[in-house]
Amino acid sequence: MNDVFPILQEEPFVTVARTAAETGKKVYVIGGFVRDLFLDRHSKDIDFVVVGSGPAFASRVAAAFGKGASTRYYKNFGTAVVKYKDFELEFVGARKESYRRNSRKPIVENGTLQDDQNRRDFTINALSISLNKSDFGKIYDPFNGLRDLKDKVIRTPMDPDITFSDDPLRMLRAIRFATQLHFAIDPGTFSAIGRNKNRISIVSKERIIDEVNKMVMAGKPSVGFKMLDESGLLKLIFPKFVELKGVEKVNGKAHKDNFYHTLEVLDNVAKKSDNLWLRWAAILHDIAKPVTKRFEPGTGWTFHGHEFIGAKMVPGIFKSLKLPLNEKMRYVQKLVQLHLRPIVLSQDIVTDSAVRRLLFDAGEDIDDLMLLCEADITSKNEEKVKRYLKNFQLVRQKLKEVEEKDRLRNWQPPVSGEVIMKTFGIPPSKLVGEIKTEIREAILDGKLHNNYDEAYAFMLEEGKKRGLTVKEIVPEPKKPDNEKE
Ligand code: ATP
Ligand code: MG
Repeated sequence: MNDVFPILQEEPFVTVARTAAETGKKVYVIGGFVRDLFLDRHSKDIDFVVVGSGPAFASRVAAAFGKGASTRYYKNFGTAVVKYKDFELEFVGARKESYRRNSRKPIVENGTLQDDQNRRDFTINALSISLNKSDFGKIYDPFNGLRDLKDKVIRTPMDPDITFSDDPLRMLRAIRFATQLHFAIDPGTFSAIGRNKNRISIVSKERIIDEVNKMVMAGKPSVGFKMLDESGLLKLIFPKFVELKGVEKVNGKAHKDNFYHTLEVLDNVAKKSDNLWLRWAAILHDIAKPVTKRFEPGTGWTFHGHEFIGAKMVPGIFKSLKLPLNEKMRYVQKLVQLHLRPIVLSQDIVTDSAVRRLLFDAGEDIDDLMLLCEADITSKNEEKVKRYLKNFQLVRQKLKEVEEKDRLRNWQPPVSGEVIMKTFGIPPSKLVGEIKTEIREAILDGKLHNNYDEAYAFMLEEGKKRGLTVKEIVPEPKKPDNEKE
């Protein structure tokens, strides 16, 4: 077993223990820090339970640290957080909790260490270590949390039906911890999730998505989604995702199960990137397959337009899940919409112009898009996978070449509307937009290089075609210093 003494000789424990001795208060380290210590994961977020007032004790600790410490008090929760160096120390008074039927907010009374451990969600989260002189370093483990850590099991300390019904968020936490830590959920605990799943309705969507996002950020997030699905929770918190499940067969032809396919794509992305939103793009890339599914005799199963319809569904899904309705959402939308484009490219003979258009449409996010597309290859046929990946290598190579030549990643029109208006002496109008579009299309088609002089000459011709006459030749406007290359 891991020896806890060395770490207790270090800050911040030295100061907390000294404060405990000075004030005569009983203080224990508890919760996630202790769990992670035994898992050899060292965290800077440390929870302490004080028999007495948490905030009063916190202010003594902060004073002992001196200038470098800052304290925040959460009166409603009876807790206080002391920040010191990169530590975040949370102090809570030992408490006893009882719950009402329709709220996950308990009635709270002062209690003992044991009372406080009883209110914890899992055996492995109820472990505590004494910082008191009389039993310094003693591990208080009333529910065999150490055994469960060794066996890699998530289990509630009390009757799971009561634990989950009291605070249904714990059902999601069970699945989230199991996913993050690669633990199994004890069968009794897991079956209680199934029985209590409908209680999730009293938990706010913000809390739910916090847990889901932590799960999505785990090393292999599919594990969590499969447990969510199996317990019945997924249907309640994210029904659209469950609609991807299932296989239909017509005339002996089946399509793949898009739920499990999506989970594979998500795991593939997770191996390559810690970007939460890229992971969400993986979750949502095929979300419109159920609504676009058709069986076409002669062709088989098709999902025409699922990338466009999927992109249109993203804002509604983000809103219902309380994910942010900002540029993160637009990023996910864009990736969902574009997720087939590199595949199409890799199948045809790759023309410069198609590559240029993809670069133009994906902009900054081209690398993420390529990553998503590679993750999307989940065929069981190894030859096929190899071939696809090789084609993607080609697409990447082409992208690089075209980008070096034409710099289209963050494309700005080389000739602005201002310049067009000044040259022909015309006011803002549809015509200006038309000419701009012509220039852009010509660049994307490779008829022009992406520079001012070529675009300007082309513009003069386009103006002439439209009966415009040149009033003034406008040289390339000077860029501000910081935009110069
Ligand atoms: P992490 O911070 O890595 O998510 P953690 O275990 O520290 O894991 P926190 O949410 O920070 O989780 O909570 C700290 C401790 O508080 C937990 O270890 C657990 O003992 C207790 N706890 C948190 N939420 C609940 C809950 N809903 N019900 C019961 N106990 C809880
Ligand atoms: Mg924590």
